[in-house]
Amino acid sequence: ENRNLFAALRAAFPQDLDRVAVETDTGLHYSWRDLDRGTAMIANLLASLGLQEGARIAVQVEKSVEAMMLYLATLRAGYVFLPLNTAYQKAEIDYFVGNAEPEVVVCTPANFGWVSKIAFQAGTKHVFALGDDRSGSLLERAAQQSDEHALVEKSADDLAAIVYTSGTTGRSKGAMLTHGNLLSNAEVLKDYWGWTEGDVLIHALPIFHVHGLFVAIHGALLNGSKMIWLAKFDPKKVIERLPDATVFMGVPTLYVRMLAEPALTEPACRNMRLFISGSAPLLMETFSAWKERTGHTILERYGMSETIMLTSNPYHEAEGERRGGTVGFPLPGVSVRVRDDQGNALAAGEIGNIQVKGPNVFKGYWRMPEKTKEEFTEDGWFKTGDVGRIDELRYVTIVGRSKDLIISGGYNVYPAEIEGYINDMPGVAESAVVGVPHPDFGEVGVALVVPKADTQIDGEQIVATLKSQLANFKIPKRCFVVPELPRNTMGKVQKNLLRDEHKSLFQ
Ligand code: ATP
Ligand code: MG
Repeated sequence: ENRNLFAALRAAFPQDLDRVAVETDTGLHYSWRDLDRGTAMIANLLASLGLQEGARIAVQVEKSVEAMMLYLATLRAGYVFLPLNTAYQKAEIDYFVGNAEPEVVVCTPANFGWVSKIAFQAGTKHVFALGDDRSGSLLERAAQQSDEHALVEKSADDLAAIVYTSGTTGRSKGAMLTHGNLLSNAEVLKDYWGWTEGDVLIHALPIFHVHGLFVAIHGALLNGSKMIWLAKFDPKKVIERLPDATVFMGVPTLYVRMLAEPALTEPACRNMRLFISGSAPLLMETFSAWKERTGHTILERYGMSETIMLTSNPYHEAEGERRGGTVGFPLPGVSVRVRDDQGNALAAGEIGNIQVKGPNVFKGYWRMPEKTKEEFTEDGWFKTGDVGRIDELRYVTIVGRSKDLIISGGYNVYPAEIEGYINDMPGVAESAVVGVPHPDFGEVGVALVVPKADTQIDGEQIVATLKSQLANFKIPKRCFVVPELPRNTMGKVQKNLLRDEHKSLFQ
């Protein structure tokens, strides 16, 4: 049996191929037939290049329907898709192209000069341009190809994509994902999130990460559902389109920005079935404010480049409530366990290292066999690098990343716990606690706190309040009020930058 992921996606296209599959914010309508023909033509172009088995197709382009088609065409033609963050500049592209050695690079027309130079120097044979307005050599060449294509055979274990991690904790690593990884996860989510006839997804995420590329696109396609495609997230535009949609996926910052719009109301959400959040922790305050304003309970889920989705709050009430501050239950077929640093099992509710197993877990880091070995236990569980707990009811809670853990005077301090207390104080919008070197304690916490708009807060007062709430070893030794926290494109706070900035405070 052909386990090429595209076979499953194609099989889910509706009978009537003339129906609209994608509607863009520039007023374009793509039918299912357009997707089928467009991906066939690009797949034929790739096939005509005489690439090696397993060739990487590295893509750094602006979000467009054609960029999505390039992904689907890569699956069809049996090659390996390698999406790159549009923010990357010369040094980063140099690293990724050098590391991944793609046979094909696709970039924006505007970047063609410098990207092609880097690519050709690294030995890439083919560089194409693809603009977000259908311009560029990729589509010009594809237009000369047949619009019929015989799907390439793949086994579940064959590579489909290499996704570089967000680089939140250090240098990005290329996670090798197989057709089997992607399909098994997509099938589980289709069921778990209750995808149903008539669903329409608003797609407002970038497509160079797992969230926008896999969770969102596979979700809609595997259900034969239309996507309302927004090239960039704009809170007003999303709210405008909510009445035409049933499902929305966002990172927490998108929810915060939509809440700032008075147009976000219960009537605006009347046709919505499901709001999903992930990629970074959703603040309890956002979760509650959303419920109050819209009547909808955001469903928070947890995943990563290496595993796609791992846990999710329940969709059906019968399975339990959607509990804010948690990332829900292990998905069907996914096993999640918590271990201490020595690898011992921990009781329900105890905090430790989150380890996972399942058909969704990646094959390893691209060209990093040592690192891959390090990140798996002897009995084959993947060490996520996240720290958390599982309670008696099986709800998983993330308390931070092991790299962000602060060890102060020999005691473990979990930043998320301290941040929770700070965020609950009046006038506080959000906060980050990071560990910095200290001559006596080894490490101590430093808090960076962002005030709510037009609000004055006082760092010393925050520290004083914490002292009345928490054990002394947990109290940040300094607290700075800052206008904002450094975030990457997926809305993740870059604690490594904060640690770096404050590393000499006590030395
Ligand atoms: P790197 O591995 O390069 O440091 P990264 O881990 O941020 O970067 P991704 O794979 O994009 O790269 O992100 C996965 C991480 O995002 C998870 O390990 C987890 O820390 C975080 N995450 C995802 N969803 C949630 C969530 N709902 N709540 C809290 N954290 C989340
Ligand atoms: Mg990671």
